Amino acid sequence: MSLYTGKTITLCEVGPRDGLQNEQKILSTDEKVCLIERAVSSGFKVVEVGSFMSPKAVPQMADTDEVFRRLTKAPGVEYRALIANMKGLERAADCGCVKTKLNVSASETHNLKNLNCTPAESVARFAPIVEAAKEKKIEVSGSISMAFGSPWDSEIPVSTVCSIIDAYLAAGVTEISLSDASGQAYPGQVYDICEEMKKRYPEVKFWLHFHNTRGLGIANILAGIEAGFTNFDSAFAGVGGCPFVPGATGNVASEDVVHAMKGCGVHTGIDLDMAIETARRVAEAVGHPTDSSMLRAGRADRILLRKE
Ligand code: ZN
Repeated sequence: MSLYTGKTITLCEVGPRDGLQNEQKILSTDEKVCLIERAVSSGFKVVEVGSFMSPKAVPQMADTDEVFRRLTKAPGVEYRALIANMKGLERAADCGCVKTKLNVSASETHNLKNLNCTPAESVARFAPIVEAAKEKKIEVSGSISMAFGSPWDSEIPVSTVCSIIDAYLAAGVTEISLSDASGQAYPGQVYDICEEMKKRYPEVKFWLHFHNTRGLGIANILAGIEAGFTNFDSAFAGVGGCPFVPGATGNVASEDVVHAMKGCGVHTGIDLDMAIETARRVAEAVGHPTDSSMLRAGRADRILLRKE
């Protein structure tokens, strides 16, 4: 029996945020609500709905408040959104969003150039936001982009990632996502970093977030599972990209991950056919073919025979 068989993982559908924010075409609020509700009916228990950033900077996410208001929230499902500052937190509170995520880039070069401080110093500045969130009963998680490599540095030392996690913990954030927005992670590296993180930070609830830029998204998820990680992000139809990274594709496609996990005997709780149908609608809505193996080739027949 493979080491994956019988394991259970949780997938977060990040397509509505990480995917659609990088698409040229801006979907209507109704289209977004419909796709999110479909993702939830297919079995997703965590969804990244949008972000509360400046509408000028990210016009695709300008209606996140409205999406939150219109969504019929299913019980037991976590609907989260990205925030960057106090204004974002206030918008979250106003539309009933109770789970937020802050982000910092692990690239010192990028951070020093843009914000004139180290990534850990950036995170320390989040402390008042986390404090204010507590009063509003809003949960705050943190993410670290470029945790596995960046276009601006020859490498991202694990010590840098640890200094950022330490800063998050000091600010009161214990749920942290390690993100590979630049699509540079590879399975051996993922396994080693996950092992290290588990040893150093047993109190942290980790997420892994892989883009499929170099075709290693699913292999990286399997490496994470092998190291004992259970929370992963994916995006319907594999939509998205990364504005800073040339040639970057979106997150690994949700339906491809569900298909691969089904084949490996890993339980996701997500209905594969429904996930494929959602992906088809997403690709239709954005109006171009996306990085989805399921949409291109369909499910492998033998998968039909395997029971969850
Ligand atoms: Zn991403």
